[in-house]
Amino acid sequence: MTVSKKIVLHFPRRLVEQPIVCRLVKEYNLDFNILKAAISPDDEGLMVLELRGKQADYDKGIKYLIKRGLRIQSLSQNVIRNEERCTHCGACVALCPAGAFTLDLASRQISFDDEKCLVCGICLTACPPRAMELHF
Ligand code: SF4
Ligand code: SF4
Repeated sequence: MTVSKKIVLHFPRRLVEQPIVCRLVKEYNLDFNILKAAISPDDEGLMVLELRGKQADYDKGIKYLIKRGLRIQSLSQNVIRNEERCTHCGACVALCPAGAFTLDLASRQISFDDEKCLVCGICLTACPPRAMELHF
Protein backbone atom coordinates (compact mmCIF):
# COMPACT_ATOMS: atom_id res chain seq x y z
CA MET A 1 0.00 0.00 0.00
CA THR A 2 1.33 3.45 -0.94
CA VAL A 3 0.90 6.28 1.54
CA SER A 4 1.34 10.03 1.31
CA LYS A 5 1.52 11.98 4.55
CA LYS A 6 2.27 15.53 5.55
CA ILE A 7 4.54 15.78 8.54
CA VAL A 8 6.56 18.37 10.42
CA LEU A 9 10.16 17.54 11.29
CA HIS A 10 11.88 19.35 14.14
CA PHE A 11 15.66 19.06 13.90
CA PRO A 12 17.76 19.64 17.00
CA ARG A 13 20.60 22.12 16.43
CA ARG A 14 23.27 19.41 16.06
CA LEU A 15 21.41 17.87 13.09
CA VAL A 16 20.42 20.98 11.14
CA GLU A 17 23.19 20.63 8.54
CA GLN A 18 23.12 16.87 8.11
CA PRO A 19 21.61 15.25 4.97
CA ILE A 20 19.06 13.26 6.92
CA VAL A 21 16.08 13.78 4.62
CA CYS A 22 18.09 12.72 1.55
CA ARG A 23 18.64 9.33 3.15
CA LEU A 24 14.89 8.79 3.12
CA VAL A 25 15.18 8.61 -0.67
CA LYS A 26 18.36 6.57 -0.93
CA GLU A 27 17.81 4.06 1.84
CA TYR A 28 14.04 3.92 2.35
CA ASN A 29 12.74 4.44 -1.22
CA LEU A 30 10.63 7.41 -0.20
CA ASP A 31 9.80 10.51 -2.23
CA PHE A 32 9.42 13.82 -0.50
CA ASN A 33 8.22 17.29 -1.30
CA ILE A 34 9.41 20.07 1.00
CA LEU A 35 6.51 22.44 1.68
CA LYS A 36 8.32 24.73 4.12
CA ALA A 37 11.73 24.92 5.77
CA ALA A 38 12.99 27.30 8.43
CA ILE A 39 15.53 27.71 11.18
CA SER A 40 14.07 29.04 14.43
CA PRO A 41 15.80 31.65 16.63
CA ASP A 42 17.11 28.94 18.95
CA ASP A 43 18.56 27.22 15.86
CA GLU A 44 16.07 24.39 15.78
CA GLY A 45 15.41 23.36 12.19
CA LEU A 46 11.81 22.94 11.10
CA MET A 47 10.69 21.31 7.89
CA VAL A 48 7.17 20.62 6.64
CA LEU A 49 7.16 17.91 4.05
CA GLU A 50 4.98 15.48 2.22
CA LEU A 51 6.41 11.98 2.36
CA ARG A 52 5.32 9.32 -0.10
CA GLY A 53 6.11 5.63 -0.48
CA LYS A 54 5.12 2.13 0.49
CA GLN A 55 3.69 1.84 4.00
CA ALA A 56 6.52 -0.50 5.10
CA ASP A 57 9.18 1.90 3.78
CA TYR A 58 7.38 4.84 5.39
CA ASP A 59 7.36 3.05 8.76
CA LYS A 60 11.08 2.29 8.48
CA GLY A 61 11.84 5.86 7.42
CA ILE A 62 9.92 7.27 10.40
CA LYS A 63 11.79 4.94 12.75
CA TYR A 64 15.07 6.11 11.24
CA LEU A 65 14.15 9.79 11.79
CA ILE A 66 13.20 9.16 15.40
CA LYS A 67 16.38 7.18 15.98
CA ARG A 68 18.40 10.12 14.67
CA GLY A 69 16.75 12.37 17.25
CA LEU A 70 14.14 14.27 15.21
CA ARG A 71 10.76 15.15 16.64
CA ILE A 72 7.89 14.46 14.24
CA GLN A 73 4.34 15.81 14.10
CA SER A 74 1.56 14.70 11.81
CA LEU A 75 -0.46 17.51 10.25
CA SER A 76 -3.81 16.01 9.52
CA GLN A 77 -4.60 12.78 11.30
CA ASN A 78 -5.09 11.40 14.79
CA VAL A 79 -4.83 7.88 16.10
CA ILE A 80 -7.15 7.01 18.93
CA ARG A 81 -7.72 3.81 20.88
CA ASN A 82 -11.12 2.22 20.98
CA GLU A 83 -11.14 1.31 24.67
CA GLU A 84 -13.92 -1.22 24.25
CA ARG A 85 -11.87 -3.19 21.74
CA CYS A 86 -8.46 -3.11 23.45
CA THR A 87 -7.69 -6.42 25.14
CA HIS A 88 -4.42 -5.15 26.70
CA CYS A 89 -2.52 -7.88 24.88
CA GLY A 90 0.61 -5.71 24.71
CA ALA A 91 1.41 -6.33 21.02
CA CYS A 92 1.70 -2.60 20.36
CA VAL A 93 4.11 -1.71 23.16
CA ALA A 94 7.42 -2.70 21.55
CA LEU A 95 6.31 -1.72 18.03
CA CYS A 96 5.45 1.92 18.69
CA PRO A 97 8.48 4.06 17.75
CA ALA A 98 7.24 6.91 19.92
CA GLY A 99 6.80 4.98 23.16
CA ALA A 100 3.12 5.92 23.29
CA PHE A 101 2.13 2.68 25.03
CA THR A 102 3.11 1.75 28.57
CA LEU A 103 2.60 -1.49 30.43
CA ASP A 104 1.57 -1.15 34.06
CA LEU A 105 3.18 -4.19 35.63
CA ALA A 106 0.86 -4.31 38.60
CA SER A 107 -2.44 -4.18 36.71
CA ARG A 108 -1.15 -5.68 33.39
CA GLN A 109 -2.99 -2.86 31.64
CA ILE A 110 -1.57 -0.99 28.64
CA SER A 111 -2.00 2.77 28.71
CA PHE A 112 -1.95 4.90 25.56
CA ASP A 113 -0.60 8.46 25.56
CA ASP A 114 -1.96 10.14 22.44
CA GLU A 115 0.26 13.18 23.05
CA LYS A 116 3.26 11.06 22.11
CA CYS A 117 1.68 9.50 19.04
CA LEU A 118 3.32 10.40 15.71
CA VAL A 119 0.55 8.89 13.60
CA CYS A 120 3.01 6.54 11.90
CA GLY A 121 0.24 3.95 11.57
CA ILE A 122 2.24 0.93 12.72
CA CYS A 123 -0.18 -0.02 15.49
CA LEU A 124 -3.21 0.21 13.21
CA THR A 125 -2.34 -3.05 11.50
CA ALA A 126 -0.38 -4.64 14.37
CA CYS A 127 -3.22 -4.51 16.90
CA PRO A 128 -4.99 -7.92 16.79
CA PRO A 129 -8.53 -6.65 17.62
CA ARG A 130 -8.00 -3.46 15.55
CA ALA A 131 -8.50 -1.24 18.57
CA MET A 132 -6.30 1.53 17.16
CA GLU A 133 -8.20 3.78 14.77
CA LEU A 134 -7.18 6.54 12.40
CA HIS A 135 -9.31 9.66 12.48
CA PHE A 136 -9.12 12.66 10.16
S1 SF4 B 1 -2.18 -4.23 20.45
FE1 SF4 B 1 -4.28 -3.41 20.47
S2 SF4 B 1 -5.39 -4.73 21.88
FE2 SF4 B 1 -3.24 -5.08 22.24
S3 SF4 B 1 -2.73 -3.61 23.93
FE3 SF4 B 1 -2.26 -2.57 21.99
S4 SF4 B 1 -4.14 -1.40 21.53
FE4 SF4 B 1 -4.70 -2.95 23.04
S1 SF4 C 1 0.38 5.41 15.28
FE1 SF4 C 1 0.53 3.82 16.85
S2 SF4 C 1 2.60 2.98 16.63
FE2 SF4 C 1 2.57 4.94 15.54
S3 SF4 C 1 3.26 6.45 17.04
FE3 SF4 C 1 1.03 6.41 17.18
S4 SF4 C 1 0.58 4.95 18.80
FE4 SF4 C 1 2.72 4.60 18.18
